[in-house]
Amino acid sequence: MICNQTLGRKSLIAVDALRNPLEAIFLQDRITNFHLVAVSCPDEQRLIRLALQNFSAKEIKSIDSTEYANRDIEVESTYSMQDIQGCLQRADIYLSNPDGDSRVGKLTNLTNQITRLISLMKRPGIITPTALERCMQIAYTAKLNSGCISRQVGALITDNNFSVKAIGWNDTPHGHVPCNLRNRDDLLSGLDKIAFSNYEKNDETYINNFKERNKRYIKIAATGRNVSYCFKSEFNSIYKTNNQVHTRSLHAEENAFLQISKYGGQGIYGGFLFTTASPCELCAKKAYQLGIRKIFYIDPYPGISIAHIIEGGESNPYMELFSGAIGRSFHKLYSPIMAYKDELNALAPEIVPKGIPA
Ligand SMILES: [Zn+2]
Ligand SMILES: [Zn+2]
Repeated sequence: MICNQTLGRKSLIAVDALRNPLEAIFLQDRITNFHLVAVSCPDEQRLIRLALQNFSAKEIKSIDSTEYANRDIEVESTYSMQDIQGCLQRADIYLSNPDGDSRVGKLTNLTNQITRLISLMKRPGIITPTALERCMQIAYTAKLNSGCISRQVGALITDNNFSVKAIGWNDTPHGHVPCNLRNRDDLLSGLDKIAFSNYEKNDETYINNFKERNKRYIKIAATGRNVSYCFKSEFNSIYKTNNQVHTRSLHAEENAFLQISKYGGQGIYGGFLFTTASPCELCAKKAYQLGIRKIFYIDPYPGISIAHIIEGGESNPYMELFSGAIGRSFHKLYSPIMAYKDELNALAPEIVPKGIPA
């Protein structure tokens, strides 16, 4: 870099491997032209690649449990340990690195994506976004509407020409108050009645446990923060279960599917689904039943929903790992600094044709 500086050349800097979303946020906040790039491949190919590098199944499992562990924000190491999912959610650019179709063409796909990316970094707006990027950007916009306090996900449904039919984000059914707007003390003091269910307001076991757990938050409440809570976590901690039935929210994909049934629209048989995460088992089943042909997703670790549901039977949706820019990088890379026509005009002085009187 220093050498380039003395020679009057520009530098592109690649930082190889950030471990934690907080490191990424630090750089994203300070460097305007910083792009967090996530490189991933379908999970089954990742497992084969690791096996080829002599990792045993046991070793892979232990790597996964560190990289995909449950984070406790009260534990100090959470802020420095590897958090792949957190980094994936914060990434600006996704490169997919699936196996090539031949030995010689192994890296062609990845090389093309990188070439495109660097061209856009050097010359924003030199080409326009792909249909995939445009659609994923809409899903990405939708996710910010989610009132879930643990995770925000966005989804989009298009027909097979990328014509947008519906959007959704994970949230409570319309009419229920989203988790981020509810407050523990409001429940116990009988305020904000509309925000809480009859079960929450009347079940004795629930209320007693809730009171007990509330002690933990007294200090935080004094700081003026809204102490909201996740009903599912409360319920599961009382009954020592890990039941997913008690989430208050619908998933982003479900909400997108339902938007069409709710307000009317056209059938989505043969259409595409975009999700800023990856479809869970329940949403994968709905997508399958609706005849969705392709699912574009970002998080490459979708549990068993691909192997068990998507790949079951004979009318399987095709799963494609998203590649492209979203969020701030979408705007940064695709907004031209000036209209190309103006640039050309400024660089090429006008030639006045001879013979025409001035
Ligand atoms: Zn929630
Ligand atoms: Zn789901």
